Amino acid sequence: PQTKLPKVGTTIFTVMSQLAAEHGAVNLGQGFPDFSAPQRLLDATIQAMQGGLNQYPPMTGVAPLRQAIAQKSLDLYGAQLDPDSEITVTSGATEAIFNAIHAVVRPGEEVIVLDPAYDCYEPAIELAGARAVHVPLDPQTFAVDWDRVRAAISPRTRLLMVNTPHNPSGAMLTADDMQALVEVLRGTDIYLISDEVYEHIIYDGRRHESALRYPELRGRTFVISSFGKTYHCTGWKIGYAIAPPLLSAEFRKVHQYNTFTSFGPAQHGFAAMIRDEPEHHLQLGAFYQAKRDGFREQLLTTRLTPLPVPGGYFQLVDYSAISDLPDHEFVKWLTIEKGVAAIPLSPFYETAPLGQRLVRLCFAKNDATLDAAIDRLQAL
Ligand code: PMP
Ligand code: GLN
Repeated sequence: PQTKLPKVGTTIFTVMSQLAAEHGAVNLGQGFPDFSAPQRLLDATIQAMQGGLNQYPPMTGVAPLRQAIAQKSLDLYGAQLDPDSEITVTSGATEAIFNAIHAVVRPGEEVIVLDPAYDCYEPAIELAGARAVHVPLDPQTFAVDWDRVRAAISPRTRLLMVNTPHNPSGAMLTADDMQALVEVLRGTDIYLISDEVYEHIIYDGRRHESALRYPELRGRTFVISSFGKTYHCTGWKIGYAIAPPLLSAEFRKVHQYNTFTSFGPAQHGFAAMIRDEPEHHLQLGAFYQAKRDGFREQLLTTRLTPLPVPGGYFQLVDYSAISDLPDHEFVKWLTIEKGVAAIPLSPFYETAPLGQRLVRLCFAKNDATLDAAIDRLQAL
């Protein structure tokens, strides 16, 4: 049969986690914490199950969670949101991204994607019958070249996708970037997806530039986030999309026939966490900054060169002092022969920069895991 996604194989995250398991490697590849979710979250979720909240939640998400998201968005980003018409809970950010694309993009249209980009964007665009137009980020700093974004706009452009803090680089959009973004989109009918799943994992006093802070962007934007990253429970797959009422209505048409609704007890758990323990998300940056700093210091004892990490829980390292292998071969060698799994960068690109020798390591791990990885990396 003619496949609809000829370029797509098994995701690099699945491939590397399987290879790590087969070879007993320390898995710093796929992004997930190896420590527990907060006790209050577990308790509140179990309590919801034991209390009988086990049938379909409302299609848009349970009311206490949508209210908690609205309050958090007001407190952090100054955005006044109507939880009934502007917030929709989804099965992870992945579902929200898929819905948002399918809600606004028609066959034959174009979506601008900034490379390297998270791997679920392009297949969703192609399934909508549209085409991804790739604009490269700066190969050293992963900054956006807004002139190149502007130049990529055509009469067919329907949507632009940004991600801050950025996977895989950790780069963050600045206030100047946001101003440029506003100007690039002004006078166009292009929608925006702002993927903000690492919104609370930010370092060194930086400010997360949520699109919610920018009234000029609000009318055209889907802001997407995920509780998996914030509450150390990537396996629960609960996220959400914030968009103005007309866009949320279109989004919900896709959501209601895609999944209809998402696991209810966890939604009550997250509502309790945001309400009762806001310090968890407010202190997440400090929590991960200690890990980032410790890991970077340890990396200096290896022949890998760490790049700056402004946000998120991934460390890019340059391995050119060790090997000239292309990144997908280097990570296989590193996993099988040296016992540490990493993620190559090339799957995040349409065309990776020539000679780039970078891989991604996840430091959302217990100290013992990071120590074990460093022991092995010191032998490179
Ligand atoms: N966007 C980015 C940038 C991500 O890193 C991830 C998770 N790795 C997602 C979206 C998907 O999030 P979820 O697991 O909630 O579907
Ligand atoms: N978002 C995770 C990462 O970047 C992976 C999620 C997945 O396995 N699909 O590592």
